[in-house]
Parts: sequence; structure tokens; C-alpha cells
Amino acid sequence: MTHWKHLLRQSITSYEELCHCFPGRIDPAVAAVIERYPLRINPYYLKLIRTTGLPLFLQAVPRPEELNDPVGIPDPLAEETLSPVPGIVHKYPDRVLFLVTNQCALFCRFCTRKRHVGRPSMPGGDSSFAAGLDYLKDHPEIKDVLLSGGDPLLLDDDRLDEILAALRAIPSVEIIRIGSRVPCTLPMRVTKKLCRTLKRYHPLFINTHFNHPAELTDEAQLACHRLADAGIPLGCQTVLLRGVNDSPAILRDLLRGLLRLRVKPYYLFQADLTNGTDHFRTTIEEGRAIMRELIGYLSGMAIPTYALDAPGGGGKIPLTPEYQVASHDIFRFQSYRGELCSYPEPPPPPTHFST
Ligand SMILES: *Cc1c(COP(=O)(O)O)cnc(C)c1O
Repeated sequence: MTHWKHLLRQSITSYEELCHCFPGRIDPAVAAVIERYPLRINPYYLKLIRTTGLPLFLQAVPRPEELNDPVGIPDPLAEETLSPVPGIVHKYPDRVLFLVTNQCALFCRFCTRKRHVGRPSMPGGDSSFAAGLDYLKDHPEIKDVLLSGGDPLLLDDDRLDEILAALRAIPSVEIIRIGSRVPCTLPMRVTKKLCRTLKRYHPLFINTHFNHPAELTDEAQLACHRLADAGIPLGCQTVLLRGVNDSPAILRDLLRGLLRLRVKPYYLFQADLTNGTDHFRTTIEEGRAIMRELIGYLSGMAIPTYALDAPGGGGKIPLTPEYQVASHDIFRFQSYRGELCSYPEPPPPPTHFST
């Protein structure tokens, strides 16, 4: 068995194992949480939690609050409504999500797809995959297919090869994206063989997901460099999480560190209204204030778009801090340092010429 599969098998999945790993730190109510939302912490991430502490502990270890969420709903992004065939979520004109597995290397407690992940309820079998492919063939306006789940990189190399070959056989599909947290949560999954498979299907992009600078280990660096060396542009979709990374200093270290791993920060997501994750939410004002302390102080390459995935399926809404200052005749704004600046707009173009 390959090294990563062996590690995955050694994951802790039960209340008893969790108590054994973190003596005196697990509330008895967590047993019921695990019945509802499964637990998986693989040995790689477990070691990282042990050496770095709370911000990683909170991402992976269940809490009683997961069963006492006053506002969250199971499917805040209305993905079920936007799903024309099992596994496909078609929200935007030119691109879709294609959910190909419900498995992950770590079950993140703040997961937006908590209703499916790790449970048998999600499509992903061969028949739904065929239906998804037919949908893409019938909709040539779809140019960009995002493989997600679950984590597509938990599939075997052979299965991934089949999926990517089937997508590449559809001429209207221009780009393929894979959303995967594996470079962060189980970087040894990124083998040389995996990279040889992936690089046959360009243009292929990977958006990974790191939330804290402690996750930027030597192993993660090796995984990202291997993918980048295979010609795969890497982005990162971080989630803003209370107690994990809701501070400008932590995010600054994370975003700079990602660039060193050749990963371009793509989105910083406002937490979704997913049932069982309310205790992770910050306010949007806090998020904007944090962005204010990043923009201008960090390389522009390191700045993600802070965005809300609109409840009900409205799509991603950029939440940019406000720089414009009220003024009627001229464009006035503040710089990142707060200095007032202005920009005279050109006069409107003439609508007709005299002869
Ligand atoms: C986020 C998302 C996408 C991709 O959006 P981009 O802004 O292009 O990255 C596509 N489809 C669905 C359903 C999504 O939630």
C-alpha cells in the first residue's frame, strides 16, 4: 500500500480515540457530534495539531457547538436546487462544480458541505458520473469544470486519470480546476506519479486550501513545488475563521508564506451559514478591517479577494474595504495609509460632431 493510503487508514475516527489523543480536552457531548458529523484526523495533521496548538485543533476537533447552531442551515448555497443532475452544481453561465467524491483526508469542522462529506449521502458513483458527463456534453457553454467533493485528490491515480480523460474528450471544456486540501492536510498524497498524471491534462489549475501559517510545513512545500513543477498554477481558498486566523498578523504570515510555496492567494471566504459551523463566523466588518491591514502592506500578489458566497446561491460577492470618499464632482478616495487623494475624471465624450 502506498504511504498516503497507509496514513489515511491510521486516522482517528472515534470519540474514544480522540479522548485518548487529547486527554481531558474533549467534552463528552462530542460523542453525539461525531454520530452526526464524522471525525477523521490523519496522523500527519494530528502531529501538526500537537506541535502547533489551538488554530489547528479548532479546525479538526469536534465541539459541542456543532449541534447547537442557532442560524445555520444544511445547504446555505442552495446547491441541491442548483443541481441539474447528481454531482453537478450549475450556478454561473460558463462554469460548474462537479462533485466526484465525498471523501477527504481530514474532515474540517467548518466544512461548507458538512451535509455530505464523509457520509454515504453524496453522489459520486459511476452512474452519476456518467450523467454529469452527459450534462457537460449537452451544455457547450460550460468552459470551466471545477472538480470538488470531498477532495478529488483522495481518488486513486487511475480513477483520476479516467475522470480527466473523460473531461478532456469534451471539446467545449476549456479549463479544468481541482479543489483540494490535500497539499495542506495530507501532502504526501502529492506523489511524483500523481503529478505525471495531472500534467497530461493541461490547462489544469489547482486551488488548494491553507488557513494558518503553521500548515506551511516542509512536506506541504514539497507537495506544492511538485505540482507547480508539473506546470499547474496553484491558488488558495482560505476561509476566515474565528480563533483560527481572524487576525491581520496571522493572515500576513500565511499569505506571504503561500507565495513562497508558489501558491497565489485567490479567495479569502467569509464563513458560510452551514449548519454546525456558527461558532467559526466573524462579522463582515471584522473581515473588512483585516483586509484594510493587508492591502498595501503586502505584495499585491499575496492579496486574495475577500468574498461572501451569497446565501441562496447568488454567487460570490467581493467584500472590498471602502476606499472611496463621498464627493459629487471628482473621484475622491483614501490611500491604504488613509491619505486623501483625488482623480479628475475625463469629460464625457462628445455625442456628435458639428459639420
Ligand atoms: C465558487 C463556485 C464556482 C467558481 O467560482 P469562481 O469565482 O469562478 O472561482 C463555480 N460554481 C460554483 C457552484 C461555485 O460555488
